Amino acid sequence: MQLLEERIRKDGIVKEGNVLKVDSFLNHQMDIRLFEEIGREFKRRFRDEEITKILTIEASGIGIACIAAQSFHVPVVFAKKTKTKNIAGDVYVSRVESYTHGRIYEIIVSKDFLKQEDRVLLIDDFLANGKALEGLADLVHQAGADLVGAGVVIEKGFQPGGEIIRSKGIRLESLAIVDAMDEKTGEIRFRDQEN
Ligand code: 5GP
Repeated sequence: MQLLEERIRKDGIVKEGNVLKVDSFLNHQMDIRLFEEIGREFKRRFRDEEITKILTIEASGIGIACIAAQSFHVPVVFAKKTKTKNIAGDVYVSRVESYTHGRIYEIIVSKDFLKQEDRVLLIDDFLANGKALEGLADLVHQAGADLVGAGVVIEKGFQPGGEIIRSKGIRLESLAIVDAMDEKTGEIRFRDQEN
């Protein structure tokens, strides 16, 4: 997605540890005009699919998912991150290893909001090692719902997540794939995509 790649080049900051900081338009301050274009692009890519629900993970996936949902006209459910083992209520639980924080946490979704008849699209901001998406896919699996695919805004193509998710047979649409980035020069190289 040309507009997104240009924005990442302009405002993205390459940090040490292979972290791309996009706080000025995606992860902290949010450029809603850009989000609208992102939402429309997800809709265009998944236009042939029947989708009844978007599932994301708190916190930074929520904004993107909500704006995308305006194109899909479906509810958004976000998996909650929890540190406690004693969770109230009837929930699906999965364990996720955090890329940015390096610890393991549990994600939960109430059984009320993910049903067997649902056809679910996963949405997240970043794909790195694939743990967040794997956790979300696991919740969908536990619910017995259909997983239609996953849409991520930025895939870091030099990390294994994309390969892992695709090798599971999950349809993955990444709006920008970063193939290389250099923290010294700030240079970012994108993969050419046919879309
Ligand atoms: P994964 O589970 O695929 O390893 O990592 C995905 C999650 O880690 C995303 O939800 C995102 O919040 C965070 N993340 C991974 N890499 C980056 C990065 O380079 N920059 C930012 N801002 N977040 C990242």
